[in-house]
Amino acid sequence: MKIKTMRRTAQILTLAAIFIIPFMNVWELYFVKGTFYSMDIGNVAIADPLAVFQSMFASGKINAYMIASLIIPIALMIFFGRIWCSWFCPYYLFAEWVESLRRKLGFRDFRPEYTKTMPSRASRVRFLFLFLGLIVMGVIGVPVLNLISAPGIISSQALVVVKFGYVTFELAIVLVILFFELFYFRYWCRFFCPTGTFLSMFRWKRGMAVQKVRNDCSKCHSCIKSCPVIINPMTEGESLHCNNCGDCIDACQDNLNKQTIKFTFK
Ligand code: SF4
Ligand code: SF4
Repeated sequence: MKIKTMRRTAQILTLAAIFIIPFMNVWELYFVKGTFYSMDIGNVAIADPLAVFQSMFASGKINAYMIASLIIPIALMIFFGRIWCSWFCPYYLFAEWVESLRRKLGFRDFRPEYTKTMPSRASRVRFLFLFLGLIVMGVIGVPVLNLISAPGIISSQALVVVKFGYVTFELAIVLVILFFELFYFRYWCRFFCPTGTFLSMFRWKRGMAVQKVRNDCSKCHSCIKSCPVIINPMTEGESLHCNNCGDCIDACQDNLNKQTIKFTFK
């Protein structure tokens, strides 16, 4: 089975869950409650690490609940890399759908060609954007980066629409960001999303990563052409950019004969 099929299943189930959870709450079933900013599953708390960090910073307070809510997301990041992004984040799914729509509409392909300097340039932009956001948050004392957290907004809008039957202005922020995906290839996740950038800092070299396991590949570069974050999967699978989507593994034609590129744990 293609990795993309498994990934798409996980994405659709996650999308369904953000609507099903508030429905359950309306029916007074509270085993799972919350959004992607912060969620409780039974007695287990899970929160977006960036949201927690901002909350600690803005309030100057830190408590055991906040720390406990970081354990699962950070452990996932350490052992499985950025699978949150490509396997579960609803924005990523929408961005992939926008990309398919762009192709169907026959719009120009704005995907840039891979160059060796591209990942480091993307890193500079991402971390500068995150740093500026944190400075603004520190100055005004408000967790402003939550206002542009696409997964948090999407899940909280799902909650509001199910519970109260309306949406708020925050939905417009996500729609505008998504609209520009038509013209700037996967720009939000590659350059700006503070949630993804913050999470990527917990990437561990020994965790799950794409690796080329044979030297004599046919050098067709299908893996590079398929990579949504425009890195070279053969040499940069361990980088902070890779979200372990597995598209490069699916695209590799040599894999049909002999395993050439695959997920590994070191
Ligand atoms: S970078 Fe942000 S918006 Fe993109 S998939 Fe990751 S968390 Fe979601
Ligand atoms: S290197 Fe492979 S797994 Fe990583 S983001 Fe690119 S296509 Fe996905």
